[in-house]
Amino acid sequence: MRPYLLAETNWKALKEATIEVAVLPWGATEAHNYHLPYATDVIEADHIAAESARVAWEQGAKVVVLPTIPFGVNTGQTDILLDMNLHPSTQLAILRDIIEVLDRQGIHKLLLLNSHGGNDFKTMIRELGVRYPQMFICTCSWFQVLDKKQYFEEAGDHADEMETSLLLYLRPDLVLPLEEAGDGSAKKFKVTALREGWAWAERKWTQVTADTGVGLPHKATAEKGRKYFEDVTQKIGGFLVELAQADTRDMYE
Ligand SMILES: [Zn+2]
Repeated sequence: MRPYLLAETNWKALKEATIEVAVLPWGATEAHNYHLPYATDVIEADHIAAESARVAWEQGAKVVVLPTIPFGVNTGQTDILLDMNLHPSTQLAILRDIIEVLDRQGIHKLLLLNSHGGNDFKTMIRELGVRYPQMFICTCSWFQVLDKKQYFEEAGDHADEMETSLLLYLRPDLVLPLEEAGDGSAKKFKVTALREGWAWAERKWTQVTADTGVGLPHKATAEKGRKYFEDVTQKIGGFLVELAQADTRDMYE
């Protein structure tokens, strides 16, 4: 039983507990090229949240990881079989109910640990921050914490070398042989501003990629996944320690 995971701990342990920071990992259920499982983002969220919390717990931070929300915003993948979509307004409603519980019970620091590119919590945090002024709500997408070029050769953002390496490390039993993976080649926008990224529009996934992947996965290894996983969880663990210690009425210097 890991005392920092709500799903594993019990009322006996929690009855008298003080909790400084809650972590809510948020994933998605969606196709990840041919070779990775639909739960890829959930598996990454579960493991990264748990290990980051362990790192923080061992330094004395009272953190608790809530169960990962398995469905995310997949509005661009409506035509991919069983890619599950929560509309952003539904996501906001779920988040509001969870924050209402935390706020009522005096757990006023929340980290939304995001594991999926389609989830975008910033505007929700702005709105919920007004509704729950005692709450300090922050978000971090684990895949943006480190410079991935230091760890992986191929660029990409979906079922790419990074995600494939992580799954080879965390759940190799769920990864098909890499020769069965598509090459994850992705089309770019014809409109210059969108292609260059200084204007944004949602990508219509099946028009962009044939195998649902974005990024060549074939150079992935479990060892690359291990190295990245250890570094990213150390860094997020350190963030949790600092967050636990922070006085939310005195955040600036
Ligand atoms: Zn993913």
